[in-house]
Amino acid sequence: MSEAQAAPRMPDECGVPDPQQYMHPTLKKNYGAWDWHDRPRVGVLHHVAKSGDEVWTVKAGTQRQMDVHTIRKLCDIADEFADGHVRFTTRSNIEYIVADQSKVDPLIKKLEGEGFPVGGTGNSVSMISHTQGWLHCDIPATDASGVVKSLMDELYQEFTNEQMPNRVKITTSCCQINCGGQGDIAINIQHTKPPVINHDLVANVCERPAVVARCPVAAIRPALVNGKPSLEVDEKKCVCCGACYPPCPPMQINDAENSKLAIWVGGKHSSTRSKPSFHKLVVAGLPNTPPRWPEVSKTVMKILHAYKEDGRAWERMNEWIDRIGWPRFFELTGLPFTKYHIEDWRGGRNSLNASNHVHF
Ligand code: SF4
Ligand code: SF4
Repeated sequence: MSEAQAAPRMPDECGVPDPQQYMHPTLKKNYGAWDWHDRPRVGVLHHVAKSGDEVWTVKAGTQRQMDVHTIRKLCDIADEFADGHVRFTTRSNIEYIVADQSKVDPLIKKLEGEGFPVGGTGNSVSMISHTQGWLHCDIPATDASGVVKSLMDELYQEFTNEQMPNRVKITTSCCQINCGGQGDIAINIQHTKPPVINHDLVANVCERPAVVARCPVAAIRPALVNGKPSLEVDEKKCVCCGACYPPCPPMQINDAENSKLAIWVGGKHSSTRSKPSFHKLVVAGLPNTPPRWPEVSKTVMKILHAYKEDGRAWERMNEWIDRIGWPRFFELTGLPFTKYHIEDWRGGRNSLNASNHVHF
């Protein structure tokens, strides 16, 4: 075997970069050796290492999908008012890390002056995590960052204050495949009608076996339509998930009238205090009304208001609902309970993913 053949083949994908190279020197020095932490004010975390070193983390909200000018502005603030090190949380908050307490107040003043609210810690409503939406994904029935922006405008005070019973994590998803995950409140788009097939295009555009395989409920079959190879959908089986649309755009499912928003509550990824839980549907059929989605904002505010008023200290949304029960939840929020809240789809017993540890 030649020397070239014997050399191991190195992976060529880049993957996640090594975080150590970007880490604040104090974080790097005390990696894995922290003693305690507290929150001196909303939006600021204070960590003390076993070595006695201290760091302050200032958290600010951003609009998530940012233009290059905004990113440069945030980086300039890091260079001038912090120690030049930042990180983004999964909810698109930016965090500035400083090793000198005297830098905290001027940094907050600068961030707020530039329109970036400081908050999102403790029992606040943190930034809403959202899925890719129109920018990167091929299925969405609505924008994702637009819904977040209009809701966070309403929730500004809840981001900059810690007045909720416990932390509130809101997610949005622009289809029911729902890469947004579970949330205390989740705002998800639902397609409500099966796809409409443009049979003239299917043979030219779609790989039919791939489309058939994509359907989670086996509702798609190959068919000859007007003498051309195409597909047909068994509409009784179709759950309107939209999964067939990306591999086959002639199976159009987005619809201005019939793609609706739904609100789910009580989901939780973490194992803190209580085990993880699935969110449950509480409102369906809200209209998809960009650019401000007023019906969605109104409903979310009703739920948050009831939780804030009635939740006990440290109760997460799901724990609050478990304590008071669903009838009382609908009473307190003033939302109607309808027959559509009852899951009666028999196929779900066999095919629905029943673990909240696995996310699509
Ligand atoms: S939620 Fe659906 S449409 Fe939105 S980014 Fe995820 S897969 Fe795409
Ligand atoms: S929308 Fe979903 S369930 Fe309906 S045909 Fe397409 S892949 Fe199947």
